[in-house]
Amino acid sequence: MPLDVRLIDFARDPLAKLYGAYRTCYTPKTPGEVWDEIGDGRIPPEQIRQFIAERLKTGHASPLEQVVFWFGISGVSRALSHQFVRHRVGISFEQQSQRYVKYKEERLDYVMPKTWERQGLAAEYDALMREITRVYEEALQKGIPAEDARFVLPNATPTNFQVMVNFTELLHVADLRLCWRAQWEIRHMVALMRREVLKAVPELGGYLQPKCGDKRMGYCDEPLSEWERCPIGKVRPHKELLLQVYQQHRAGQVVPLSEQHLRTVEDAGNEG
Ligand SMILES: Cc1cc2nc3c(=O)[nH]c(=O)nc-3n(C[C@H](O)[C@H](O)[C@H](O)COP(=O)(O)OP(=O)(O)OC[C@H]3O[C@@H](n4cnc5c(N)ncnc54)[C@H](O)[C@@H]3O)c2cc1C
Repeated sequence: MPLDVRLIDFARDPLAKLYGAYRTCYTPKTPGEVWDEIGDGRIPPEQIRQFIAERLKTGHASPLEQVVFWFGISGVSRALSHQFVRHRVGISFEQQSQRYVKYKEERLDYVMPKTWERQGLAAEYDALMREITRVYEEALQKGIPAEDARFVLPNATPTNFQVMVNFTELLHVADLRLCWRAQWEIRHMVALMRREVLKAVPELGGYLQPKCGDKRMGYCDEPLSEWERCPIGKVRPHKELLLQVYQQHRAGQVVPLSEQHLRTVEDAGNEG
């Protein structure tokens, strides 16, 4: 079963909800008056979009908790699910049970990382999974309850989720899990979640980036050696480089361009 991510639903009118939440903070009007203006069109949708785009540039993030998404996710491994359920704030999980659901396939539809294929070990992997499935099946047939038979199942066992998550937490999950350092499967899953949000609410989906993204923290705070290896490290700065630039600035080495600098460039041009 391939990894599948579906945006099941999102709380109605997310942009209006955000507008209402932000406006309540900044206006003497009551929320009732703000929502009357939204409802009768005195605040046109374009104004709502622009207002939200400006607010999203700021650190005032708590209104984003009032925007909620539901996802259906299937065909991910238990290796992924162990990582996913570590997120604990602003996110709610329901996961397929290994006590109530018994796997019936002849060979369980295990997730196989491509690295096993690349190293020529796919056949060994598959044989082991078949053997595990056989032992698991035999255990069930002999009357071992599913909650105990599952003890032989590996991290590769597939699982399904329904997840409810607010936008603040979804941004945080994307910060961490779209980062190149995150494990490939969860990174792929969160990328598919991002695509779904981008389709449904493009005004918000574009903010789902790794933490180094221009719409997020803006720089990489992972180890420098990892940043050097990262494919997008070439376009996003590392915090140590930013500090170096800051120190150079403090030492007077980063200065506004003067006419003198421009003469230097002009001279170089003449020399060439
Ligand atoms: C690349 C990578 C490698 C990892 N490696 C390991 C590992 O080797 N071992 C391991 O055990 N885990 C590992 N993790 C998991 C990691 O430690 C977190 O458990 C996981 O990312 C969940 O994120 P979070 O703690 O930000 O929780 P979330 O619930 O997503 O947090 C949301 C926000 O709330 C804040 N928050 C949540 N709870 C509290 C609290 N009690 N007090 C104050 N603030 C809170 C968080 O700091 C965050 O800002 C790894 C994660 C990544 C991305």
